[in-house]
Amino acid sequence: MRVPGASRLPAIAVLFPPGECGGDLQVNPDLRNLITLQDIDQKIVILKKQISEIPERTKTYQNELQELVRNHQARVALYQDHAKQRRARENEVEMMRTKLSRYKEQLMTVKTNKEYTAMLHEIQIAEDQIRSAEDGILDLMDQMESMEGKLAQEEEQLKAKQAEVEFQTRNAEQSVPVLEAEVSGLFREKADLECRVLPELLARYKRIADARKGVAMAEARNELCSACHVRIRPQVITDLLRAEEIHVCDSCSRILFVRQG
Ligand SMILES: [Zn+2]
Repeated sequence: MRVPGASRLPAIAVLFPPGECGGDLQVNPDLRNLITLQDIDQKIVILKKQISEIPERTKTYQNELQELVRNHQARVALYQDHAKQRRARENEVEMMRTKLSRYKEQLMTVKTNKEYTAMLHEIQIAEDQIRSAEDGILDLMDQMESMEGKLAQEEEQLKAKQAEVEFQTRNAEQSVPVLEAEVSGLFREKADLECRVLPELLARYKRIADARKGVAMAEARNELCSACHVRIRPQVITDLLRAEEIHVCDSCSRILFVRQG
């Protein structure tokens, strides 16, 4: 398919400097400008996407940190609960010891054998209870000791994570104006370039770009359109190699160009 008016386009082949557009490229100046325009448009899309993703990324950093803080707080609360249980057990032991010394005093004043035996039995029970409560306290202390080590380690990790998140957040936020300046620069370059493309061809480029997810140009490679992979007619290839006319792909309507060398 020939672009209406394309035959009026300058038929001057231009050799790109090596390295530009991926190698030596012989095309007419309008095509060269459109290829550069497409590169700029795609860079703008990538940069805008990067900018738009920054708030979400910083939010993810903050969420990760908050989750660590929440988990740590839950373990601190568990430790505090153990400490509370330990104090309660210690009070219990204290009370049982008081009771035990009262029993022992009473043991001296009992009148009968039966009362004496009963009192001894009470003393035995109180002593068993004290021992069992003290075992419980020792067990709690063991658990608390191991928790203390882990909590201290976690606090260090949290501090490091917090510093890391602050650094990442600051970096991400600081990159916004830099990326925005880059986008503005690209828009200026784009405007400058658009002035140098024939208006009808530029309008066509924009129409195709709008319809084809921003990609209006397709390289003809191995006799195929590199965008839609449909075969290109030999005559079109010959025309493209002569760099004389603007052709679009019969299938996807993108503007075709060819790289040489
Ligand atoms: Zn195509």
